[in-house]
Amino acid sequence: MESMKPVPTLLVLYALSVAAFGQMSQPILPEETTKISDHVWAIMGFPNIAIVVGSRATLVVDTGMGPKNGVTIARAAARLAPGNSKLFLTTTHFHPEHAAGEPGFPAHTILIRNAVQQQEMEKHGQEMIDMFSGRSAQMKELLAGVVLRPPDVLFDQQTTVDLGGVTARLLWFGGAHTKGDELTFVEPDRTLISGDVVQNKTMPNIYGDGGTPANWLAVLDKIAALNAAHVLPDHSAPGDGSLVAAEHDLISEIRTRALALKRQGVAADEAGKQVSAELKSHHPDWPNTNAASFVNSVYAEPQ
Ligand SMILES: [Zn+2]
Ligand SMILES: [Zn+2]
Repeated sequence: MESMKPVPTLLVLYALSVAAFGQMSQPILPEETTKISDHVWAIMGFPNIAIVVGSRATLVVDTGMGPKNGVTIARAAARLAPGNSKLFLTTTHFHPEHAAGEPGFPAHTILIRNAVQQQEMEKHGQEMIDMFSGRSAQMKELLAGVVLRPPDVLFDQQTTVDLGGVTARLLWFGGAHTKGDELTFVEPDRTLISGDVVQNKTMPNIYGDGGTPANWLAVLDKIAALNAAHVLPDHSAPGDGSLVAAEHDLISEIRTRALALKRQGVAADEAGKQVSAELKSHHPDWPNTNAASFVNSVYAEPQ
């Protein structure tokens, strides 16, 4: 047998980060799961999916892009807890990679989401599916024939799902990335499934007529009060509770700078370039510091 040569650490780290990034942009989800906390597992991909396992029931957060991914997730959930016959499903927001895999779940799945998210889905859901279908032949195939069904349970601001020995609080704290962003807080783990609202080294983005930067900060204040120990974002790596304060710092840094440039009469495009360059120098290790779209959102905020 050939002896193993030591591989330089930096090379290993680079290979891992490339693999992680490859997974994060991959719309075909694997069945493989990673443990996040005592009752929470994740499928890492585009997007990350959470599976919360109790002694009686299982909750899945997000569906993947189209029914084929829904089937994979449901299989992973059944493998983690073969004895749980009750399956709940909720979605962080209405975008297709988070919600359009629902038809792949078993017929008995109990679909829950907040009322604002449901309204947003009825208004813009099909439009987003059409837009994503136009991005590539693969997405078109994944989303072909998707019909979105109404949820079994709608809630306004908060509901609790008892899974047996573990509870999931489903929360709507207001608009951020979209109007209907939903947060899931798992107790006793203190694990926050944060959607796009709390991410890790990732630029914030408000899509369409979603939330506002000021409201996003207000949502983060409510999240901070939960005192999360673990955070699982949908498009970046999991981390500890410090991600919540880091997100608040990032958004308030971009917003404060953009508002100062706006007061000086700097055009939004130019402000976007300046703020992005400043972020690049503060966070040289981040994969992307392009804040142009978020700066536009700050400029558009009612003052
Ligand atoms: Zn989204
Ligand atoms: Zn997404």
